[in-house]
Amino acid sequence: MLIWHLIAQPKQSKDSLHRDCLRLRSYACTRDHIGYRMFTDSHCHLTFPELALSWPSISEAMRAAKVDRALCICTTLEEFEAVHSFALSVPHIWASVGVHPDNEGVREPDLETLLSLGSLPKVIAIGETGLDYYRLGDRSIADMEWQRERFRLHIRAARQLGKPLVIHTRNASEDTLRLLKEEGECGDSRSAGGVFHCFTEDTLVARRALDLGFYISFSGIVTFKSAQSIRDVVAMVPLDRLLIETDSPYLAPVPHRGKTNNPSYVPFVAQELARIRDCSIEDIASVTSRNFEDLFKVET
Ligand SMILES: [Zn+2]
Ligand SMILES: [Zn+2]
Repeated sequence: MLIWHLIAQPKQSKDSLHRDCLRLRSYACTRDHIGYRMFTDSHCHLTFPELALSWPSISEAMRAAKVDRALCICTTLEEFEAVHSFALSVPHIWASVGVHPDNEGVREPDLETLLSLGSLPKVIAIGETGLDYYRLGDRSIADMEWQRERFRLHIRAARQLGKPLVIHTRNASEDTLRLLKEEGECGDSRSAGGVFHCFTEDTLVARRALDLGFYISFSGIVTFKSAQSIRDVVAMVPLDRLLIETDSPYLAPVPHRGKTNNPSYVPFVAQELARIRDCSIEDIASVTSRNFEDLFKVET
């Protein structure tokens, strides 16, 4: 475990990154577990119609791409039953429970519901939840109190259950961090912790999320030409806080950009992280799979 902690350094030069990867490699090689060389998709929507209908071929593609685990994310209470029964029926697929901040006109969650659904077998996370001020329309940020109240509810449920949050934040990082702090999240033993998924903020926001004890997950966006500011974040996140995801069916990475995404494409995200961190794709597979186990407390 000591080696693991040695790699968790906040700011790293290219040389020290390379040294970390060498350390990591020797660590990974001592582990007699092939699972650590497989990929884990920490965020996907397998029950969305674009993916659900082609599950047999996606499952086949995942096997071929060595993607052996995925977290299937819930975005409405109406869809929870489908997400949960899918997770129950497939080994190494898990579920979350939550209502996405963009979803309006859907069943509003209450604490009791989140606590009871969040306690079911294979439900390992609360979310996706958070704040999204991107589609305000003719509303002001002050009008979005309903979103902030919904987010607070998810944070409270996660803290009571001791399960991590899957956080979606867009054009709202200041309030997202503020609410987490106000609800008591600080990285201590009573904190729920969790992940800022599909990270598109800058290094300063990443630093503050890390300081609160959160992980950072990168999607296919990191492979897009215009995403240099996100690649800068990849370079500064400690290896033991990195996760990868597809957020499929959206955001397919290059070279599949524009197509329907699916979890078998998550190695393209890993490949880009490996290039930035100057280590091998196997290293990224190992470290992100291990981080997934640590954060979501799943057995291998
Ligand atoms: Zn999201
Ligand atoms: Zn999502």
